[in-house]
Amino acid sequence: MMREIRFDFRSDTITKPSAGMRQAIAEAEVGDDYYGEDPTVRLLERRMAEAFGKPAAVFTTSGTQSNLMAVMAHCGRGDAYVVGNRSHSYCYEAGGVAAVAGVHPLVTPNQADGSIAVDDIVECLEPEDVLFPRCRLLALENTIGGKVLSVDYMAAAWGVARDHGLACHLDGARAFNAAAALGVAPREIGRHFDTVSICMSKGLGAPAGSVLVGPEAVIAEARRHRQILGGAMRQSGILAAAGVYALDHNVARLVADHERATRLARALNGVAGVNAEMPQTNIIFAAVDPAVADRFAAHLAANGVGYTGTDLMQRWVTHLDVDDERLDGAIGVLAAFGG
Ligand SMILES: *Cc1c(COP(=O)(O)O)cnc(C)c1O
Repeated sequence: MMREIRFDFRSDTITKPSAGMRQAIAEAEVGDDYYGEDPTVRLLERRMAEAFGKPAAVFTTSGTQSNLMAVMAHCGRGDAYVVGNRSHSYCYEAGGVAAVAGVHPLVTPNQADGSIAVDDIVECLEPEDVLFPRCRLLALENTIGGKVLSVDYMAAAWGVARDHGLACHLDGARAFNAAAALGVAPREIGRHFDTVSICMSKGLGAPAGSVLVGPEAVIAEARRHRQILGGAMRQSGILAAAGVYALDHNVARLVADHERATRLARALNGVAGVNAEMPQTNIIFAAVDPAVADRFAAHLAANGVGYTGTDLMQRWVTHLDVDDERLDGAIGVLAAFGG
């Protein structure tokens, strides 16, 4: 039987729309977005484009769809893209890039800090020859596994991509978390990429949706691909309103999620046999000694604490629906475990 989860650290996707967000949804001005007549969708697209310093944006159903649209806009069938071996696009999008876009992944190691070494990017590129797929795109992810790519690294990767005629896409599902951790405006991230996909349903707390931002021509192309993928919607201002609300209310507070993650990681490290890496944003990975792992997992389950990963490598995520009181409750559960 499934036990009730009282302290839910499984993901920042589990948040439910707040009363204020539900009100914004209820009051949203809408129209048929097929005709470009949904003012709330247009507003969200404009706001996100501005935030990331891009001329255009398109609202999509999910981050997975945004990433696939970006790959399809930058690459044709039989082209290749450089992607990290631990990236969401390569690992967790059901192989859509191969299955739907017909694009060949040049899979390259993500370093411990989440970056792809600039030398590795260059090395996996092949000379122009009939033997090889043409590589068109470099795809990075920030944050990746909760880790933040530095501005210097993004600038270096962008330079290498430019030098080799590659476009650059950022899976920025949590780009606002990255910006908060770096202490920069999102446009300082956006300037190192042609396109950026941003999730509305992670730390921003909306029930669904993603936005892909970029140059006019690329976004126009991506809109065609959204149509192909069945992601064009009608009165989608109902959903976009949640995104606009999130931009107004849920961005500045992301630093609080990061601070709570740091507190939680310290508390995890107070448990004998647990070794949590100090988080850069809202995601913690905690290694658990096999000698205590079963007992620790049972203790957490019995006390209604939810996380993901495995009993030996736990993944904990802080988010909008974990306030200080909730966090203190969870820390109390950790303290009660007789290490
Ligand atoms: C969640 C996530 C996605 C996919 O977003 P969905 O809206 O769940 O499809 C893509 N990339 C990263 C890094 C994510 O965390």
